[in-house]
Amino acid sequence: MTSITFHGGVNDIGGNKFLVKDKDTTVFMDFGMSFSQEGEFFAQFLNARGSNFLTDMFELGMLPKIKGMYRRDYAKHVGFDGNEETEIDAILLTHAHVDHCAYIQYLREDIPIYCSEESKLIMQNFDETGTDQYLTHKEKFQFYKNKTGGVSRATGDKVAYPRNIQIFQSNKEFSIDSIRVEPLPVDHSIPGVHAFILHTSNGSIGNTADLRFHGRRKDDTEKFVERCAKSDLDILLCEGTRVNKTSSLTEYDVETKVADIVNNTKGLAICGYPIRDLDRLMSFFIAAKNSNRYLVIDMKQAYLLKLFTESESMKGKYPSPIDKNIKIYIQRGSWGLIDKDLKKFSDKQLYADYAMWQRPFLDYPNAIDYRDIQKKQNEYIFFCSDFRLQDLIDIKPDEGATYIRSLTEPFDLEMELKEEQIKNWFTHFGVIKKDQDWHQIHVSGHGDGEQIKKVIDGANSKKLIPIHTKHDEYHKKWHSNVQSVNQHDSVDL
Ligand SMILES: [Zn+2]
Repeated sequence: MTSITFHGGVNDIGGNKFLVKDKDTTVFMDFGMSFSQEGEFFAQFLNARGSNFLTDMFELGMLPKIKGMYRRDYAKHVGFDGNEETEIDAILLTHAHVDHCAYIQYLREDIPIYCSEESKLIMQNFDETGTDQYLTHKEKFQFYKNKTGGVSRATGDKVAYPRNIQIFQSNKEFSIDSIRVEPLPVDHSIPGVHAFILHTSNGSIGNTADLRFHGRRKDDTEKFVERCAKSDLDILLCEGTRVNKTSSLTEYDVETKVADIVNNTKGLAICGYPIRDLDRLMSFFIAAKNSNRYLVIDMKQAYLLKLFTESESMKGKYPSPIDKNIKIYIQRGSWGLIDKDLKKFSDKQLYADYAMWQRPFLDYPNAIDYRDIQKKQNEYIFFCSDFRLQDLIDIKPDEGATYIRSLTEPFDLEMELKEEQIKNWFTHFGVIKKDQDWHQIHVSGHGDGEQIKKVIDGANSKKLIPIHTKHDEYHKKWHSNVQSVNQHDSVDL
């Protein structure tokens, strides 16, 4: 028998967790976080409790209670000893957006994670520039014997376990016991996204992942649909984030529109875009070239570009962090020593102002700080993340500055409030006026209705299950055999 159980990612946008069982083989496609479920129960100061994390998540139905699946330091607090034989043979990861990958951090380290090189590098960036634990998990909640023979509590970083990461190649089939897996690249708003076709002993299952036709990799999505048509699919799990939308600009439109705006800007051009969307970074990079400016990126993006440049198989796909059209912005460190008299504080103190991963960038030939930007504002497109708006206090944009926002528009109250706050910052510095808006130039990572219809028509699957959407009525309009499922439902092949 072959079955799919939907532990998340249905009647919801994201939180994908699809459990496929075929004979003795069990795999998950994605293991992501649901923003809507998190929002239903949690808030900034109300979260799942430390060592009680799994109990809390099981209680609220946010994670499936499966033995042998979760990291031992957490599992032992829910009555699993953590050493049970695991029934999970693999996690197949479509891409490294948190709604698909976030809960990987709670898995036991010996469960193999199959992902693309790009997804691995993005997760590495999360780990090394923040506190995430995708590639390595650091043991928490342990007691150990101390030097005096007493018992101490480990704080969490003493023992680290690398996870079992298996990199797959695009279009190169591999097997997990009885399941043959085809990883097929598709176009979305982060590098390395792969849809899957699983060939099981009772038929084949397609999973679109998140996709579109209006980005830089439209051909990939087209080839995936062709491949589906040739595979005689029994079931297609088909995304529908934007099925109710009718049109889409393309990534190339973003590139031209941004260049136009920058060419008409007398002062500093400031921009915001999703930090891991390297195709969007490309749009700004090209726009910078076409307007004779430098693109100023932050250290997190520089780190990501460094990882991609150092990877044998990714080298040259995106600009190197020392590209002649790129400058790296050195923000004020925690003590703010960057503009202080170093004769008093020494270089060593200045470096200590930054995290280990940030320090090498201080010596890069293309490193700049607010003083460089202040002096020649019309030479730069300055990337300013929503979390680093304080950098504007140092830079103090002159008259004639502009702000291009290349991020998704708010779709709930919380996001509207946040956007109001961002507006306050740019109004404060006179970049926009109270009654005037910034330039909103963005295209989504998801195809509109017409594009999804094209996937449905082209894939020619016997059955369709809507995923990653709250609007299954469109799938039903476009396919005669649609089965809508609820969270935790199972479907047999
Ligand atoms: Zn998603």
